[in-house]
Amino acid sequence: MGSRQPLAFLDEFCYNTNIMSCLFCRMVSGEIKTEIVFQSDTILCFRDINPQAPVHILLIPKKHIAGLNDISKEDIPVLGEIQTVAQLLAKQEAIDATGYRLVTNCGADAGQAVAHLHYHLLGGRKFGWPPG
Ligand code: AMP
Ligand code: ZN
Repeated sequence: MGSRQPLAFLDEFCYNTNIMSCLFCRMVSGEIKTEIVFQSDTILCFRDINPQAPVHILLIPKKHIAGLNDISKEDIPVLGEIQTVAQLLAKQEAIDATGYRLVTNCGADAGQAVAHLHYHLLGGRKFGWPPG
């Protein structure tokens, strides 16, 4: 029982250190500026710095979640919000009729570069399948 306290402290310390060094958390806090297209209390949406299509927006939960492997039941509302806002942004960017992709990369094989859950909203050109 007595050993739980230091471990909980260590857990919290590691979580906070993660957040302090996380690029997208630093955008959420406003420390790093970005071109925000939408935000709510729980999500932030901004233009990708290296766009892969005429429309390339990233949608992220404001809470630090490392990736899809790390979501839990309590995250269902924010994940639902991301999908609903993706639909809204697709309309706003006029790609709803022509088509678009909402993609999340999870882990090394998928090419995930930033360890904070994010969804790419891509549109404005034709995409190939299967993806590269
Ligand atoms: P992923 O490869 O799925 O982890 O995607 C990470 C995305 O973050 C890439 O598309 C990058 O271009 C994008 N990115 C990295 N740094 C920034 C930044 N400072 N502002 C906006 N997007 C960024
Ligand atoms: Zn983060």
